[in-house]
Amino acid sequence: MFCDRVIRDTSPAKRPAVATGSQSNSLMSHSFDRRSLLKELAAKGIRLTSQRRVLIEIIQDAEEHLDAAALGQLAQQRGVPVDRATVYRTVELLKKHRLIDELDLMHLQGEKHYYEVKTRRDHIHLACFRCQRIVEFASPAFEKLKAEMARQTGFDLRVTRLEAGGLCPECRAAAEQQPAPTASSQPAGARV
Ligand SMILES: [Zn+2]
Ligand SMILES: [Zn+2]
Repeated sequence: MFCDRVIRDTSPAKRPAVATGSQSNSLMSHSFDRRSLLKELAAKGIRLTSQRRVLIEIIQDAEEHLDAAALGQLAQQRGVPVDRATVYRTVELLKKHRLIDELDLMHLQGEKHYYEVKTRRDHIHLACFRCQRIVEFASPAFEKLKAEMARQTGFDLRVTRLEAGGLCPECRAAAEQQPAPTASSQPAGARV
């Protein structure tokens, strides 16, 4: 019996079978407790330029998993033009301080990497190969697995990432009605 809770399914009701363009359907859950990036950086005595500050605010408030190009566009929309190098340097700063996670989301959009604020509790990402929906999922079983891994290997675990891919319930139902035209373009298997 499937009894773990799907934290949030934020997909719009109707999606094309194949997502196009750069906008992914990679919405995020706000039900997890996000760390405050600006507060944590201030506590470390890190001074921020206005460009970095706006990028950090965008990551903090993001409704979906954002890649570097999207971060640049959103900064521009807020009236703060930021070049790509600044985006990457800001992301590196946040990664260095372990304040954000970097994801590839099953490479549904090629080699893009996405960034999200680290939450107090890790969550797993499930990606739909067909509509590109991302569902975030947390489970005490995952916490137990991490503790077990750390105990058995002696590792001080700092990053644990689990992604799974397949068909969401809607696409699964659609596929049963009418099989997807190509299965060969799907990424292979789940990765850890
Ligand atoms: Zn996420
Ligand atoms: Zn789907």
